[in-house]
Amino acid sequence: MVRKPLIAGNWKMNMTPAESVVLSQGISNRSARGWNKVDVVLCPPAIDLRSVVTVLDFDKSSIEVGAQNVHWEPSGAFTGEIGIPMLKDVGCSWCIVGHSERRAMFAETDMQVNRKVRALVEAGMKPIVCVGESEAVRDKGAAEAFVCDQVRAALAGVDADEAALCSIAYEPVWAIGTGRSATPEQAQSMACAIRRTVRDLVGEEVACGMRILYGGSMKPENAEAFLSCEDVDGGLIGGASLDADDFAALVKTAVDHV
Ligand code: PEP
Repeated sequence: MVRKPLIAGNWKMNMTPAESVVLSQGISNRSARGWNKVDVVLCPPAIDLRSVVTVLDFDKSSIEVGAQNVHWEPSGAFTGEIGIPMLKDVGCSWCIVGHSERRAMFAETDMQVNRKVRALVEAGMKPIVCVGESEAVRDKGAAEAFVCDQVRAALAGVDADEAALCSIAYEPVWAIGTGRSATPEQAQSMACAIRRTVRDLVGEEVACGMRILYGGSMKPENAEAFLSCEDVDGGLIGGASLDADDFAALVKTAVDHV
């Protein structure tokens, strides 16, 4: 099956609203023929969502917008949190879930990740579910078991139609923001194991159609090698998504692959 590549930029806690206008405009200005063959998603901080959506709407851009996190309850006494109806209202249809920084620094558990995924798919939004092992787990030879357990936990109780809305980003923790990416062979081998796990959970059709991304120090210089892997269908990009030229180059690499 031919899967449409997905390139998502995770801006993390960077860019003021004013800066987010400049960066999203810069990316939009660089978009070229063929970009609609790839799902391109910008995930700015929540406070920037309105500004970024406004820029992209004005340009009639095919680039879409995602959040970096969400609460599973639609509203209520959850100080500091953001609910799905708020994201939808602002024009956001994607959401990163379970990023390793949230798991490590904000103690996000597999169970919370699962609640977020289920709430998002029930609302028709598209989760980008992050999974990935630490260096210690990889050194023990337990990376595949660990990551596939994370996948099973994230998708527990999610049916095939709902799973079809999900993408999974394999992001080895030791490769995030370190400049030390995984090898394409490591990315392919894990992406293949993730796809097998998804097939066991929700069946062949959804597994074949699901986008599995690589994330971890992906940049224009190494993107080609990752995107050439049979089971790697795009990238979740941190640092390189903050530079319009670099991000546009990554999208172009994906476009050239279609
Ligand atoms: C990320 O945070 O999802 C990520 C992949 O970061 P970086 O590209 O900077 O390693």
